[in-house]
Amino acid sequence: MKRESVMGLQIVDTTYDELIFQIREDLENDRKRVIVAINPEKIMKIKGNPFLAGFVRKADYLIPDGVGILMASKKLGGHLQTKITGIDTMIRLCKMASVYGYKVFLLGGKSEVVHSAKLHLEERFQGIQIAGTQDGYHMEDVDLIQKINESGAQILFVALGSPKQEYWISENKDKLSVNIFQGVGGSFDVLGQYVKRAPVWMQDMGIEWLYRLLKNPSRIFRQMNLLRFYRLIRKEKKGRV
Ligand code: UDP
Repeated sequence: MKRESVMGLQIVDTTYDELIFQIREDLENDRKRVIVAINPEKIMKIKGNPFLAGFVRKADYLIPDGVGILMASKKLGGHLQTKITGIDTMIRLCKMASVYGYKVFLLGGKSEVVHSAKLHLEERFQGIQIAGTQDGYHMEDVDLIQKINESGAQILFVALGSPKQEYWISENKDKLSVNIFQGVGGSFDVLGQYVKRAPVWMQDMGIEWLYRLLKNPSRIFRQMNLLRFYRLIRKEKKGRV
């Protein structure tokens, strides 16, 4: 699979179809793989968190999660064209799992959220086997490793927010018989219809952040990271000439 280096990260330069095909092959060959969505916010978090930086560098598929990364690639002389978002990758993996009979486990989110996300996926993809769920606020109440392993799940979506989900995956990956791990942040909230996604035209224009900000003005502090990101790209570009 082709990759392009963007700010020191090897981002996959591919299509959804090729990515899902490759992951199916990983499943068939019993490989362990970690998928991480890279967006401006994640890059800024990496800058201040050596653990996260190491985790991301070791991950198998760094996907360009939104137009912010495509823009960074372009500004830095790269050619990344296709965004591959975390939530759409999750949806496509679920579709593939329903067709080929792979089992899925959903970990994270509030109890009612993870439950709604499960119902949504079952309605959307006939025959999908959601082998288990666990909300992200009572994880200590159960033997989670045993629960996931006994479910027989091969694909695990972890929705604990970043970097909590990355810490969790890093700590538990080797104890689990799961093949595919993906940290999916707030995706269960969207699938369970607790949070609305920005309209497609806003996603395409790269202003999904504006939609989120209007819906939830307290995100302003998180979104300062976007400004810092653009400043970082400019610095990086200058450093090259
Ligand atoms: N969450 C959780 N347990 C925690 C903290 C957060 O399950 O201890 C869930 C939270 O309910 C939400 C998701 O993690 O569903 C975080 O979503 P957010 O949009 O903040 O994630 P991001 O992708 O921005 O990191």
